[in-house]
Amino acid sequence: MEIIHVSAECYPVAKAGGLGDVVGALPKYQCKAGDIAKVVMPMYRTKFLYDNEWSVEFKGNTNLGNWFFDYTVIKEKSNKLGFDIYLIDIHGLLDRQKIYGYDDDTDRFTAFQIAVIHWISNWEHRPDVIHCHDHHTALIPFMLKHCYDYQFLAGISTVLTIHNGQYQGWMGWDKSNYIPRWDLWKRGLLEWEGNINPLACGVKCADKVTTVSQSYMDELRMNANGLEKLFEYERGKCIGILNGIDHDVWNPETDTYLTDHYSVENVIEGKEINKLALCETFGVEPSKPLFVFIGRLVGEKAADILPESIKSAIDKTQGNASFLILGSGDSSVEWQLQSMKTNYAGVFNTVIGYDEKLSHKMYAGADFLLMPSRVEPCGLNQLYALRYGTIPMVRNTGGLKDTVLDMGNYQGFGICFNEASIHDIVYSVERAVSVYQDKTHIEWMRKYMMQIDHSWESTVDRYKQVYLSA
Ligand code: ADP
Repeated sequence: MEIIHVSAECYPVAKAGGLGDVVGALPKYQCKAGDIAKVVMPMYRTKFLYDNEWSVEFKGNTNLGNWFFDYTVIKEKSNKLGFDIYLIDIHGLLDRQKIYGYDDDTDRFTAFQIAVIHWISNWEHRPDVIHCHDHHTALIPFMLKHCYDYQFLAGISTVLTIHNGQYQGWMGWDKSNYIPRWDLWKRGLLEWEGNINPLACGVKCADKVTTVSQSYMDELRMNANGLEKLFEYERGKCIGILNGIDHDVWNPETDTYLTDHYSVENVIEGKEINKLALCETFGVEPSKPLFVFIGRLVGEKAADILPESIKSAIDKTQGNASFLILGSGDSSVEWQLQSMKTNYAGVFNTVIGYDEKLSHKMYAGADFLLMPSRVEPCGLNQLYALRYGTIPMVRNTGGLKDTVLDMGNYQGFGICFNEASIHDIVYSVERAVSVYQDKTHIEWMRKYMMQIDHSWESTVDRYKQVYLSA
């Protein structure tokens, strides 16, 4: 089976969050399982682009409304990711430093999708499946089925995976001419509540829709940023498949970002050494339990209540807990965290920004990982934490609910709470500080969670079933 993943992100080429991790790993394990999986994504100006050798695969030209553009498809020469990775360069539009955040993102990702299908329409053979990821690529199923120039590709099965349903790529009808000549009777497929809504369109037109955990799939029918009724209506073709993690990248025994490796056998000593190094770098006291948060500083992650929760937790535990935060996002949260550095020196520090290496060191060196998310489709951080023997503290939502069992239960190994509130976070920190004294229980939890299998090997078959049914 030949599967083409189309995505805005793919680790290590370009990553902003979990989408990048998934698209960087799933195709590799699909190839290992015997299928042909390839990834096509925009060509941004990233380190990976400059550090590797590329061959030109195709040059073409097409149009976005009235704008005619040339595009080039390049391919990484050595197959170093374990699958073929193709980048599409549209000069001036895609070749930027950042992945998202530009005023013309609608133009960028619509032109990208058009270039992808224009290129595929020039192939001598047809792939079996086009697997689209999130709203940036969700117009493709519509284009294949209802745009006159591409209808001859309609036999290719399409699957849309929703990694985050909050962002839908809304665009006004003034941009409807961006979409290659389409059957005007099909207007209803593009529309949701008065706008063109690419994500909604993808849900309507893809043969199958998946999201990254079963609980998130269920939640989307009640809370999907306006698309609840659509998910209810289309529930027959929607499936929840929990993300896996890439054990080649996320493994404390081999992690290339770590100096001191460890395994289940020596997890206590291994984490202690990593914690000492981390605490020394950030000037926090290593004898106290270390809590970390890694992620986007946005409302979805409940980052807005993080500063007050940390202050209150330090107060309530009489300074008996240390916190280290890595992230970027809302400037007011960034500012509040930065301004706590002086007053809470010794028990608090923060790095504002994106730092892949530091994130690995934090998963290895922390005692607890905090995730009070309001919305969490799957959440990869808690899966990495499990793999590194770091106890996850999570709000009961989405994929967090599906992967963490509170330590109050038989064979429980994490701390779970119900509300994204200061009260629940502080109470959970108090529980953590208390259990931290019980070294036997902590050791049992660390060892138990490290052995839970969240590998992609055990997940790729579920995608295969989806492709077959599509
Ligand atoms: P998201 O909603 O952001 O996609 P996920 O939990 O699915 O959340 O994935 C987040 C991924 O991004 C993880 O690999 C996490 O380690 C990484 N990450 C998030 N923020 C940062 C950061 N500031 N620095 C380094 N890695 C980060």
